[in-house]
Amino acid sequence: MKIHLKSIFTLGIFLFTSFLFSQKIKHYTGTIEISIEKHLLNAEFIISFEHLSKSDELKLFFPKSATISEISSNAKSLTYTITEESFVGEDKAILIKNKNITDGKIHLKYLFDLKKIENKNFPFNKDWLELNIYNAWFPFNLDYGLFTYDINFILENELQLIGSGQVSNTTNSWKMSQNIPFLDIPFIISSKFKSISAAKKKVNVYHLNLEKNTTKTLEKNIETHLKQLNKMFGKTAKGNLTLAVNQFKRVTSYARKGFISLSIGKTYDLNDDKTLAHEIAHLWWNKAEVSSWEDWLNESFAEYTSIILQRKQYGEENFSKNIKELEETIKNAPSLQELKEKNTKNQTTITYKGAYLLYQLEVKIGRKNFEKLLKKVHQKEIKKTSDFLKLIKQKFGKETENFIINELTK
Ligand SMILES: [Zn+2]
Repeated sequence: MKIHLKSIFTLGIFLFTSFLFSQKIKHYTGTIEISIEKHLLNAEFIISFEHLSKSDELKLFFPKSATISEISSNAKSLTYTITEESFVGEDKAILIKNKNITDGKIHLKYLFDLKKIENKNFPFNKDWLELNIYNAWFPFNLDYGLFTYDINFILENELQLIGSGQVSNTTNSWKMSQNIPFLDIPFIISSKFKSISAAKKKVNVYHLNLEKNTTKTLEKNIETHLKQLNKMFGKTAKGNLTLAVNQFKRVTSYARKGFISLSIGKTYDLNDDKTLAHEIAHLWWNKAEVSSWEDWLNESFAEYTSIILQRKQYGEENFSKNIKELEETIKNAPSLQELKEKNTKNQTTITYKGAYLLYQLEVKIGRKNFEKLLKKVHQKEIKKTSDFLKLIKQKFGKETENFIINELTK
């Protein structure tokens, strides 16, 4: 699920504090009114918590330009302070004393001008308004765990909405619900969507103005990758996939539950295809904790899978090129073991160093065995490196396990 966290975390190395959440968000219920014409977003959220330690303070990041009109709990106003602390670069944080939150929920309302979004990857665009954690449109704190949501949107008539989760609509009211806990509430609205479906309607592709040969290639490659992945690893979770493709050539593409946002250039090239393959591979590689170093079990597995998919489709020369690029990318990156010990994250290591480790493992045990191993990792729902090592020991012996343990330190 990629999370293409490629981007949350390209913000650099960040510290995460603990695996045990002293505060844990459970669910968001929201009513969001958006006017593209007036470029305004009016938000009303009820955030429910699973844990809330009484002695602590709640910290939620939200848009820097937002004006708060209400923060309450159990129909009583809460006092709060605002700090300039930022998580994604254009947000600020609200601080609330937990002891004043009496029913495990907070209610908050705010308004902001969409034209004030500063994120160059996801700016206000009246034809393609894409909001997600990168532009901090909803109140969040990644330290508070994964959550589900039910969001109602009130939009101007001609607008359409796509996003992560079940989406349904009546004339100008849209509902987006996600019952699989995750870390983002991403959606795109437009009055100009064009769409095609691929892989027997399993994948719906939305775009603005892709040329016919680009959509044809996309359709073909989605089908080839999905078919290959099903063949290699067995079935993944059921459900459809929404693929939103833009030509803004942003550095960020990302995958969430059932939703992929893919940024390509004017023409669809082999690098775009690799990104597509990586994002589709996250439909299989999405089980490990994303806020810790264990995220390499998502990111590196998706990355190396994309390299295998390209090898199958484009041959050995393409494979050598990809491995060479991988070697270049990981020069000077810290080891996975280092991230573990220091409780830090580094996206190059999480995505690429781990992928290189997988390449070396593949060389060691052979391509056939490697594919079987990946299938087992998926089917056994392995979420932790320690369990991955156990599986390796069981299948290939102590020596191979030690080889990996050693590679983790490099
Ligand atoms: Zn990824």
